[in-house]
Amino acid sequence: MKITKIGSVIYVLTGEEMNSNATLITCEDRVMLVDGFAGSHDAAELQNFIQLELKKELKLIVCTHYFSDHMAAFPLFRPVPIIAHQYYEHTFTTEAYRNQEKKTRFVTPAITFSDEMTIHWGSNTLNLFYNPGHTLSTIAIDIPEADTIIMGDHSVGNIVYLYYSTPLMIKRALENIKSRNRSRIIAGHDGVSGIEKIENSLIYLDKLERSVKEAYSIGGINRIKEIKVEQCLANTAKVVDFDEIFHSKNLKAIIDRGLFFESL
Ligand SMILES: [Zn+2]
Repeated sequence: MKITKIGSVIYVLTGEEMNSNATLITCEDRVMLVDGFAGSHDAAELQNFIQLELKKELKLIVCTHYFSDHMAAFPLFRPVPIIAHQYYEHTFTTEAYRNQEKKTRFVTPAITFSDEMTIHWGSNTLNLFYNPGHTLSTIAIDIPEADTIIMGDHSVGNIVYLYYSTPLMIKRALENIKSRNRSRIIAGHDGVSGIEKIENSLIYLDKLERSVKEAYSIGGINRIKEIKVEQCLANTAKVVDFDEIFHSKNLKAIIDRGLFFESL
């Protein structure tokens, strides 16, 4: 588990499994958690970190989106209340590629909201707002005092993941995050990033659209299958593991649903 500290009260923990992030925000003897890791081993380490290192009590959990790669720790902390968007159930029940063990991570949120919510937590103000994109129920948490925004998975690696969404929804979500003008981005995976993570994802979307339209006009669907992730990346971005995996799933979604070259 890798730990990055932001100021004196925010800890961003990055787990071994899928590099999922879990963010802790302390306030006196209490702590709040945003997202809860992909792996059971990581979740157990998180529990130890809170109890043995921080020596604080977990009082509140916020979940950016109800996918199992961010929920491993939730059952460990029952009955700590979880806050999520009111459409959390849509996200959990549409998740693909999930085994039986991951289904048992489901804990019903105690509090749901539709548009926005503010939590005053010690020296920080947490502005939670609805920002659908990667999933229909994704929320973001803007923390102005820390110049930081936690956003979920609208951006993965240097790209976006279209499987559960549409290009326009993800573009709007990324632009919403960008408009907040924060220096630090905490996405669902890979620790703390700068604003370039958003820029890279927007460039990928744009280049992907152009590549799909061009490929389709030249050689139809078979030509779309040949689009390489490298030709859609921002010039400054280097291919990372997530890029290859999710780009190939994007091409499948594009072909299955006619994204970019049919209705959208
Ligand atoms: Zn994720």
